[in-house]
Amino acid sequence: MVATRRLLTRLAFMLLLLNPQGITAEEWIDLTHTLSSESVFWPTAAPFELATDFEGVTEKGYFYSAYTFKTAEHGGTHIDAPVHFAKGHDSVDEIPLERLIGNAVVLDLSELINGECNFLITTGHILAWEKSHGRIPENAIILLRTGFDKYWPDTKRYLGTDLKGEAGVAALCFPGLRPETATWLAQQRSIKAVGIDTASIDYGQSSDYRAHVNLMSRNIPAFENIANLDQLPPTGAFVVALPVKIKGGSGGPLRIVARKASSR
Ligand SMILES: [Zn+2]
Repeated sequence: MVATRRLLTRLAFMLLLLNPQGITAEEWIDLTHTLSSESVFWPTAAPFELATDFEGVTEKGYFYSAYTFKTAEHGGTHIDAPVHFAKGHDSVDEIPLERLIGNAVVLDLSELINGECNFLITTGHILAWEKSHGRIPENAIILLRTGFDKYWPDTKRYLGTDLKGEAGVAALCFPGLRPETATWLAQQRSIKAVGIDTASIDYGQSSDYRAHVNLMSRNIPAFENIANLDQLPPTGAFVVALPVKIKGGSGGPLRIVARKASSR
């Protein structure tokens, strides 16, 4: 007994040595692609622009830089506010903060999807995940990993096409969430938001965007083009997803980060 206690004390001391701030380790992961003119945008959207207003040493001798940016709401890592596909529902400035911050579950389907761009994530996939990891907890943020973020920013591989305009939209090919599963998630589980590492919560070949409609008509926002989901555990991550607060906006650039579970 005494020997066990001594061993435990020594173990705790070693942990403290390894991590001098205490045995609580926290690590933040950036789930955001850097926004630039290289960012992948929808085929009908103009690319991100950053124009220089001033950059250099001023007459008074100090350095100064300032730029003006121009962007579509739905380019790069961004949020879809409910009003994007559901009239009268929350615009980006109206989404309650508690919807954007919370415990996440990560459904990693990348191996199963294996680059198949017409893949649809179904209720069966979610039930299979729950079998190994337990039921999706109340008020979870659901993050879907297809593995397509590895193609970023190669538009042709990421979107399935580098064509622009309506021809580009018709040729889109990337995985997404089956519309019926979006409804099932909204009705059978208590979820705050759904995120995915592709350009849209609906798969590329969708033409009626029913996964969007089914989530957003229930005031559930979507996070799109998210990155680095391979660095998160299936459960235990805590997500903060704060978009630019545009009055009446249907979406906007999103900075989304996650804290990995700390060992307490
Ligand atoms: Zn969007």
